[in-house]
Amino acid sequence: MTIIDKIKKRHFCIGCGLCASVLGSDKCKMELGKDGFYFPIVQSKISQKDSKIISRLCPGIHVDGNKQSGVWGAMQSIEESWSADSAIRHKAASGGVVTSLSLYLLESHSVDAVLQVGVKDGSYLYNKLKISRTREDVVSNAQSRYAPALVFNDIVNILDSSDEKYAFVGKPCDIAAMKNLLKEFPKYNDRVKAFISIFCAGMPSYNASIMTWQMSGRTDEPVSLKYRGDGWPGNFYAVWKDGTDFKLSYNDSWGKILGHHIGFRCKICPDGIGMLADVAVGDSWTTKNGYPDFTESDGRCFVMVRTSNGSDIMEKAEKNGYIVRNTLDINKIAEMQTYQYNRRKLEGWRLVPVQLISGFMLKFKGLHIFRQALTANFVLGIKNMLGTTKRIVKS
Ligand SMILES: Cc1cc2nc3c(=O)[nH]c(=O)nc-3n(C[C@H](O)[C@H](O)[C@H](O)COP(=O)(O)OP(=O)(O)OC[C@H]3O[C@@H](n4cnc5c(N)ncnc54)[C@H](O)[C@@H]3O)c2cc1C
Ligand code: SF4
Ligand code: SF4
Repeated sequence: MTIIDKIKKRHFCIGCGLCASVLGSDKCKMELGKDGFYFPIVQSKISQKDSKIISRLCPGIHVDGNKQSGVWGAMQSIEESWSADSAIRHKAASGGVVTSLSLYLLESHSVDAVLQVGVKDGSYLYNKLKISRTREDVVSNAQSRYAPALVFNDIVNILDSSDEKYAFVGKPCDIAAMKNLLKEFPKYNDRVKAFISIFCAGMPSYNASIMTWQMSGRTDEPVSLKYRGDGWPGNFYAVWKDGTDFKLSYNDSWGKILGHHIGFRCKICPDGIGMLADVAVGDSWTTKNGYPDFTESDGRCFVMVRTSNGSDIMEKAEKNGYIVRNTLDINKIAEMQTYQYNRRKLEGWRLVPVQLISGFMLKFKGLHIFRQALTANFVLGIKNMLGTTKRIVKS
């Protein structure tokens, strides 16, 4: 069995496409499965050398945190921030910080383009990596797409076809994949000038998107679909060719459907908080009785500034009028991001059965996972360990 088949068999694949890009389409290509997730198909024999490369590159099994610490990972500062442009603040997923930092990097000529996920041209559903070269491109890719995306299946071609410098925006596992790629092939090292991560609780399948718009009672496909944004948090919103539409609140769409259809690898994710990025951005929810409050309001992000490069970008973006910044008390994050907080504390417990059954296939290093597990409630830890074991046995 090839390394890729082993990764798939254990449900560690997140469908990023990096293996297909590095091996080439004669050896491996990406397909969309009936379960609504992308996966690689091996086309011909993979050499031992290639297997070793894949085991270092694949973000499903290899994440190197490079000495993280604390519940929220290493950081230089934590801030509350939003776009200084009210139209972007309104349109974006949270407060438009990701879009505004991308625009600052592009318009200050720090980079030639922004690599980011957006919806595929001509599709309402399918997502891919986009190369945003203009303000319009960047703004059109704002908002969250709670679905898979082919992020890396063409990355080698993209990097080989020019000398352009990029900012890279992605989920924490996308950042891990890009970092693995740069480490494996140092010739690309100076091509990515900034890593911007979104917080990520999990990637629902495309089937979950379809189930969500089908709550409208219709079975014919819409022409456009957004998951949130145009307000904070904004609604899941589908529009059909005849102009009719369907709305579902963020709480109902994510909480009742999308969030229940994420893959196994997301459930054992070692980093949903962008520990490897320069900055990691999430929803700075107001909290009520210890939980996030999703009442519509003006968008606000929190930003975990993790590197001096991140610090520099934030400062310059503020100085040049792209973002507004305020200080934020780190103790507020646990209430805003209860899921992320619990996942971080319990990850070590979840990994025990996974590692034992897979023969220690996962190389999650420098992420402070087991230290966090020791500070968790042990009863909850054991429950999580047993729950994960059950899931593995069932799959
Ligand atoms: C799958 C998923 C899970 C999320 N989980 C959390 C969470 O646990 N906690 C939380 O606070 N927020 C979560 N978010 C929301 C996300 O953190 C917000 O986008 C973030 O707060 C940035 O807000 P913004 O207004 O600055 O982003 P915007 O300015 O709107 O920019 C959003 C950026 O995200 C990129 N993007 C959108 N969808 C994807 C995707 N599927 N893959 C890769 N990149 C994508 C876009 O290209 C764009 O650059 C999630 C988003 C997604 C897509
Ligand atoms: S590199 Fe990406 S697509 Fe390939 S096996 Fe790993 S997670 Fe799956
Ligand atoms: S939860 Fe983790 S593995 Fe899943 S999409 Fe988010 S960052 Fe990637």
